[in-house]
Amino acid sequence: MTILPNSLHARDVAYQFHPYTNARRHERIGPMVIDRGSGVYVYDDQGREYIEALAGLWSVAVGFGEQRLVDAATRQMARLPYYHTFSHKSHEPSIELAEKLVKMSPDGLDHVFFTNSGSEANDTVVKLAWYYNNALDRPQKKKFIARNGGYHGITVVAGSLTGLQVNQRGFDLPLPFVRHVTCPHHYRYAEAGESEEAFADRLAAELEATILAEGPDTVAAFIGEPVMGAGGVLVPPRTYWQKVQEVCRRYDVLVVADEVINGFGRLGTLFACETFDIKPDLLVVSKQITSSYQPLAAVLFSDAVYQAIADQTERLGNFGHGFTASGHPVATAVGLENLAIIEERGLVANAAKVGARLQAGLATFADHPLVGEVRGIGLIGAVELVADKATKAKFDPPGKVGLYLFERAQEHGLIVRAIADTIAFCPPLIITEAQIDEVLARFGRALDDTQAWVV
Ligand code: PLP
Repeated sequence: MTILPNSLHARDVAYQFHPYTNARRHERIGPMVIDRGSGVYVYDDQGREYIEALAGLWSVAVGFGEQRLVDAATRQMARLPYYHTFSHKSHEPSIELAEKLVKMSPDGLDHVFFTNSGSEANDTVVKLAWYYNNALDRPQKKKFIARNGGYHGITVVAGSLTGLQVNQRGFDLPLPFVRHVTCPHHYRYAEAGESEEAFADRLAAELEATILAEGPDTVAAFIGEPVMGAGGVLVPPRTYWQKVQEVCRRYDVLVVADEVINGFGRLGTLFACETFDIKPDLLVVSKQITSSYQPLAAVLFSDAVYQAIADQTERLGNFGHGFTASGHPVATAVGLENLAIIEERGLVANAAKVGARLQAGLATFADHPLVGEVRGIGLIGAVELVADKATKAKFDPPGKVGLYLFERAQEHGLIVRAIADTIAFCPPLIITEAQIDEVLARFGRALDDTQAWVV
């Protein structure tokens, strides 16, 4: 599209430096300006309609234009637009949401710390684990084990937990306190003939060997997304989490479940911890907590962690960590209303029901010549494109074909996410079966366009 002088597009290019964007390419093509949204649809400034099949950034559970969230925010703005939670201050929405999160989350998580973003929440996880081990007089026990392909955010610490090159190359990351172990993606990393279960056993053994090599007294925690999102929607073998948890317990290593994408119904269960029988010491949530209408994330943690930390705050006189907007009243009020909508409308059950249709529909593309693997669970799924189905060879250069498909999908009125050559789907939880069919039809057209281009 030609960028007209003084247009919104030209001013964007001139003034706004974008996250996750090739700045030089942006100068050439300009932005896609999204103007408004309604339900599962968004509209650009030219009036074109798109199905938002990634729910923004895996986040708009209740869809766009939900008036109840607008009203909740407006009411709270009028009553108390801002107050903090430092130094014994509090306010009703943050108290209510903390209580609600503890009551709705898996057993054994009893305390909540609020942040603005998932990255800040994961930075907080690391600081809590360090503070906890200092409190227990175990000053060496500070390392984190994460997985290659994992995504935990982009701040210096969270970006170190992340196991993706794109977030580390050029940034001098990761910091040295992190070790990354094998990504639990059977299609790519299993050995020839290795079953899903044997693969899970091997990864648990690798984790144990890593802990032993580092020294168990130096390893604080293991962190992972139950189903990995930004790494390409990777569903682990069924018993993977049980096996890695056993290893962690053996060496007194905290288990951290990062449910920033998975939480609040995405997999067809309220939390992924239910799906995979994970009993985390710390749980991280964000995104669907407010449907991203307001920035908000939370770290939930066990009473055992709390007790040690609380004692330490008494010894040191304070817990020297917190954000100006921790527990922000408007964000937490919107979170409460959003979770009420998820419950009242049965959106978790809807994710399970409509998700089955998404998975079945995606599976019909498995025989397509460009498709290497179709995967997913509930209302999150992906199609991985390969240069050679038999050898699973990736395209060279990686990402070019995925980007082409992504652009064709947009022409067909469908917004998805291209993660290199993997196309990800994560629509709002309110999506209907008919809308899922439309997502699949539009994707099918984009896939055929791509096939015609590749050949
Ligand atoms: N953790 C996971 C699993 C995520 O998917 C993300 C963001 O996509 C984050 C953490 C970081 O969240 P934020 O972008 O709010 O910092």
